[in-house]
Amino acid sequence: MTGATLLRDLRRGDRRALARAITLVESSRPDHRDKAERIIEALLPETGKAVRIGISGPPGAGKSTFIERFGLAGIALGRRIAVLAVDPASKRGGGAILGDKTRMAELARAPEAFIRPSSAGDTGGGIARRTREAILLCETAGFDAILVETVGVGQAETAAAEIVDMFVLMLAPAGGDELQGIKRGIVELADLVLVNKADGELAPAAHRTVADYTSAMGLIRPPYPEWRVPVRAVSALKGTGIREVWDDVDRFRAALKGTGTWSQRRAEQARAALWSEIGDSLLDHFRAAPAVAQLLAALEQEVMAGTRTATPAARSLIASFLGKA
Ligand code: GDP
Repeated sequence: MTGATLLRDLRRGDRRALARAITLVESSRPDHRDKAERIIEALLPETGKAVRIGISGPPGAGKSTFIERFGLAGIALGRRIAVLAVDPASKRGGGAILGDKTRMAELARAPEAFIRPSSAGDTGGGIARRTREAILLCETAGFDAILVETVGVGQAETAAAEIVDMFVLMLAPAGGDELQGIKRGIVELADLVLVNKADGELAPAAHRTVADYTSAMGLIRPPYPEWRVPVRAVSALKGTGIREVWDDVDRFRAALKGTGTWSQRRAEQARAALWSEIGDSLLDHFRAAPAVAQLLAALEQEVMAGTRTATPAARSLIASFLGKA
């Protein structure tokens, strides 16, 4: 299929074309990369209208249960929902995160929804690029809310926060005051904190967790002066508090658009993406350079053995790379 045909079908909102286009941006084959880059360049001017929402949290917090409810509620509000699930831990596409077909089964059946696991097993940088491009493809296909789900709490979350407009942290009710292994840095990235499972026996613990995080958030500098980060109790199982999250999304967008922060955040993300591409690409060239390859293993050994320090070793490798040695 030619790029032009794919692009035409994509613009029509054809979900199979969307799936195919995402496969193309995920491919590492050079001819696929070229084709993907041409498609992305062609569609870029018409993208950017959707709201891009990141949803992260520890395994078992209830992210997939929530996304299904939230997605269906969004559809009821007239939205078209794309879910991009990123699982850095799985070595193969659709590993742990979506290998189980029953996940989000109802949402997956809805014609207004599109669900896609990432084929991970790559570095954080690769995941970020592919997800960024997949977002643009979803927007071209007419999806106006893109949910980027990441599993676990760590590097992938930071990467996800850098490609979305709004970063949502989902937690389960905690017993006591432990912070559920959530790094403070991740909490600082949150534009909205949801404490899930506020139902049945877990309800009191959920409300305590909300209170704990509300006071913890008070100590953290807010991400934007125009936005106070809400901490909200929800139940994905019962469907309570879900509609309010859509209200939060709308209020967040309105507040940030009102001050220009919305487009500024995207511009800064685009610049960060440029530098991360430059970094990745330079490293690839660096590793592939014969002059570097000759020295690399030996210097690495010396640095590991402590017979040489990192700084001069790096300097001599870079000098070889630049042909100045
Ligand atoms: P994920 O790993 O974050 O995607 O979590 P899942 O959505 O797979 O949910 C983990 C477990 O928590 C499952 O057994 C769910 O049924 C349960 N769960 C999810 N949401 C709720 C909720 O709102 N209330 C209760 N009581 N259980 C929930």
